[in-house]
This record gives sequence, C-alpha cells and structure tokens, in this order.
Amino acid sequence: MAGSSGFSSSSSSFYFVPLLVEKENTTFPRNMKPEDITSFRKALEEQLASLTKVSGDHQKLLDEAHETQDFVGGDRAAELETMEVDASVAESEFLLQKKIQHALERIDSGTYGVCEACGKEIPRARLEAKPSVSLCLTCQEAHEANG
Ligand SMILES: [Zn+2]
Repeated sequence: MAGSSGFSSSSSSFYFVPLLVEKENTTFPRNMKPEDITSFRKALEEQLASLTKVSGDHQKLLDEAHETQDFVGGDRAAELETMEVDASVAESEFLLQKKIQHALERIDSGTYGVCEACGKEIPRARLEAKPSVSLCLTCQEAHEANG
C-alpha cells in the first residue's frame, strides 16, 4: 500500500474564479446603443414639448371660439360641430402626450424599444418613424383588430 501523500488540503480554490459579466447595455435591446437611447429620448422630449405648446394653443382657440360664439349668435350647430372636432383633436393630443411620457418612462426603466406585448425588439425603423410606439407592428395590428 503506497501512502497517499501530498494530496491532502493544499490548492483547492480553483472554482472560485469570478465570472466577469459585462453589465453594460444588458438592459437595452442589442440593436440599441446608449447614443441611440439618448437621441430617441431627445426626439421624444422635443415631440412632447411641441405637443404641450400645440395643445395650449388649442385651448386658447377654444376660449376664443367661446367668446365669438356669444357675439355672433347664429349658426350654433356648426360652431358646436367645430368645437367637437377641436375637442377630439385635443383628446388625441392628450393621449399622444401620455404615450410619449410612457415611452420616456420606458427609457428610464431600460425597456424602451421592446414590444410591451410580446417582448420582442421593435424594429429600429418603426421607432424612428414613431418614437412613442410601445408595440411591434404584429402586436399593434392584433391590438387594433381586437378593438
Ligand atoms: Zn409584439
């Protein structure tokens, strides 16, 4: 029986080599660089700023329409119709503002550019055309088809 020597308790901490995980960019889709995120954020913020301004103008127009309505008197139906159109424009602007704010929140949380329904990356071209989208085209169409 040959004695087992030198195999006792010396070098055994081989397995504790730390794995170097690259943390950078893991929250964003692969096709997005931080610069891209920055430029999308800028585009969204600009769009939001101009929308806020436009809806402010709309409010002013509505107020003026109100005043002139009292003054003119006649054609109330037509006036009211115009007002209704303005109101629905204002409403869709409001919704768009919400969408843009939501997109900005998604940038902050690192989920921007990913479809909210299926989790796939939203094609770059689609984001560039409409930075506030939160669904890929497939899910958007399914969403619209369902009402
Ligand atoms: Zn999708």
